[in-house]
Amino acid sequence: MHNAAFEALGLEWRYLALGVPPERFEETVKALPASGYRGVNVTVPHKLAALRLADRSSAAAAAIGAANTLTFAGGGEIAAENTDAPGLIAAIGAPSAGLRAVVLGAGGAARAAAWALREAGAAVSVWNRTRERAVRLASELGVRQVDRPGAAHLLVNATTIGLDADVEERAALDSLGLAGADPPATVVDLVYARATTPVCAWAERGGARVIDGLEVLVRQGALSFELWTGQSAPLEIMRAAARGAAPDRVR
Ligand code: NAP
Repeated sequence: MHNAAFEALGLEWRYLALGVPPERFEETVKALPASGYRGVNVTVPHKLAALRLADRSSAAAAAIGAANTLTFAGGGEIAAENTDAPGLIAAIGAPSAGLRAVVLGAGGAARAAAWALREAGAAVSVWNRTRERAVRLASELGVRQVDRPGAAHLLVNATTIGLDADVEERAALDSLGLAGADPPATVVDLVYARATTPVCAWAERGGARVIDGLEVLVRQGALSFELWTGQSAPLEIMRAAARGAAPDRVR
């Protein structure tokens, strides 16, 4: 997705995957600017460490407690941002103010989603399999914790349910407390895969507007791209590249 965008804009840049163990994360990142890197995306398990090592961080990254994008400025300064949150809002593409939103999950993706929707003016409830994690998230971000997903205008699946292709739709919905429920008007599934996920299938059958994880991935990627390059991201090109290269669900 990023390499297709660089090519479209005539930039001789490359986006590479670097596998780094946690104990080498900080020294590796700090060596990158001198090696010609302009920034990095950071994923599990490094998002908290990325926030900690940065010289400055955005309000979103600080409040969420995680950064997925680091940008290297002149003089070796490292700036941390969380584009998962604005990426979700961009993918929804409609005002969320006044809506009731339910976020499923209490990991990093759920934190970013709950914060983003709260900032957008939605009344946010968080449900999680392990209740205590949802209680903690809710108290830290000033949203509600619920013991059942319940009625809402918008639902975001921020769990890993749907990644595993061997889990049947019924079992997946059961695990999320959604069995027998009708989907709300808008459903977002953060899980990204080429195949339709159980949550997307349930939402489509119920007539919801469905936003899949690839669209959110493209939107957060486009925001990272703009931070690094200072240019508008070629969204259609990034979308086509992401859809062409999406992983199958894991079997
Ligand atoms: P994480 O920190 O590992 O959190 C996983 C969450 O899934 C936890 O809330 C966990 O609940 C829940 N979960 C796992 N297995 C479950 C099960 N069998 N039944 C019910 N709940 C279960 O992961 P993350 O980093 O937040 O990412 C979550 C998902 O979002 C991943 O699929 C990731 O790929 C996706 N994501 C997508 C984007 C995008 O741009 N589209 C961006 C970020 C993340 P417990 O607390 O009970 O363990």
